[in-house]
Amino acid sequence: MYIIQIASECAPVIKAGGLGDVVYGLSRELELQGHTVELILPKYDCMRYDHIWGLHDAYLNLWVPWYDGRVHCSVYCGWVHGRMCFFIEPHSQDNFFNRGYYYGDYTDAIRFAFFSKAALEFLLQSNKRPDVIHCHDWQTGLVPVMLYEMYQWHGMQHQRVCYTIHNFKHQGACSADILKATGLNRPDYYFAPDRLQDNHHPGALNLMKGGIVYSNSVNTVSPHHAWEARFSDVGCGLQPTLEVHQNKFRGILNGIAEDVWNPETDRYIPYSYAADRFVDKKLNQKALRSRLMLAESERPIVCFIGRLDDQKGVHLVHHALYYALECGAQFVLLGSATDDGIYSWFSHEKAFLNENPNCHLELGFNEELAHLIYAGSDLIVVPSNYEPCGLTQMIGLRYGTVPVVRGVGGLLNTVFDWDYDREHSLETRNGFVFFQQDAVALESALGRALDLWNHSPELFQQLALQGMACDNSWTHPAQQYLEIYEVIRHKWV
Ligand code: ADP
Repeated sequence: MYIIQIASECAPVIKAGGLGDVVYGLSRELELQGHTVELILPKYDCMRYDHIWGLHDAYLNLWVPWYDGRVHCSVYCGWVHGRMCFFIEPHSQDNFFNRGYYYGDYTDAIRFAFFSKAALEFLLQSNKRPDVIHCHDWQTGLVPVMLYEMYQWHGMQHQRVCYTIHNFKHQGACSADILKATGLNRPDYYFAPDRLQDNHHPGALNLMKGGIVYSNSVNTVSPHHAWEARFSDVGCGLQPTLEVHQNKFRGILNGIAEDVWNPETDRYIPYSYAADRFVDKKLNQKALRSRLMLAESERPIVCFIGRLDDQKGVHLVHHALYYALECGAQFVLLGSATDDGIYSWFSHEKAFLNENPNCHLELGFNEELAHLIYAGSDLIVVPSNYEPCGLTQMIGLRYGTVPVVRGVGGLLNTVFDWDYDREHSLETRNGFVFFQQDAVALESALGRALDLWNHSPELFQQLALQGMACDNSWTHPAQQYLEIYEVIRHKWV
């Protein structure tokens, strides 16, 4: 099968969070299973060019209709750890992708509407006719809309779209201007409750809703989150739309890429290890302590890795830090914050704790350091308010770092409580789970984890090894996506 992924991220070249990991990992696995996969991405100025091999111009004269004129673009081709990627570079005053960041300004909707349009024009003009176009999140929600309403009349009537939602919180609400820019026009037609009209703000368009309405198949990234999105406020206003489209909506758990997240082959950790050489994890712990100037001592290391965002339960992250220190553990935090308030809060904490030999706060994004922290920690906390899938707990499991998580979304599908899980046998349990959104609940789970580490080290190690034995690879999820692709490509819509 011929699959093209259109996305705003692909790790490690463009990575703001889990979306990048998923686009890379899924593409790799689909190729391993014998399919042809190509990716279309924006050519950002700030992406990691050092991870692209053989970048060359592939299509220099792509003219993209935009408002009443056309924008000249160049398309470059290169390989990102074996994946064939096409990068679109517009030559326009708007400087859509040369801003020093991937997301985060008030023109994001128009930037990614342009990207969606340019990606379709590229397919059209270069005669690429994939069986399936796989789009991700609000940034590419307009792809199926334009495919169905415009491009199918230009010879792309056989292409089908699978649309994956990684985060319902960001939906790409925007004004009618987008219709004019993309040539969709007809505001009366699109501002309808069964098309792109935002469910909360009737004067706005919603790009994610467009993706749901117009795609042939829609999914989010875990079965439990699919349920939450339909039946709780986690759907962020899209519940009625998911209700209407329930027959094409489901949850498929993410995986983690075996070539990136594997303690046996990880290039970023000084000592490789595996379940049968678990003692070598201790050497990485020593290396982590030395790198972050933590005191060398016989204490467990608890870590948090993730965006410092309201979604991630920052108040509980903050509480976990102080609780871990109070219990005699060490704490390492690696987090990037886009919200100014959260950033200054954690900067303040960092300054306050600067002299403490038992903790280290690293603010910013650092892929290499993340690998060492996964390898060198004993426990990883993930106290999210909501979590569509969550990769950090799965990576933690792979590295024998026991997860302590809040039981929401994909965390509930991947972490099974050592003491209380009723559905999994003791031999397949792998972490600690709490449910309430408060400090007491977090303490109860983290306290149990630290107790096990302190008083039953053999059992703690057994739990860590059980985590390492979990299969969170892409093999099974990719098969589920392939089943979907097979169904939609034979469906006449
Ligand atoms: P989300 O997509 O909501 O950000 P996920 O748990 O799905 O969260 O994925 C997070 C990914 O980003 C993981 O690969 C994690 O290691 C990585 N990550 C998050 N924050 C950082 C950071 N500050 N530095 C390095 N890697 C990070």
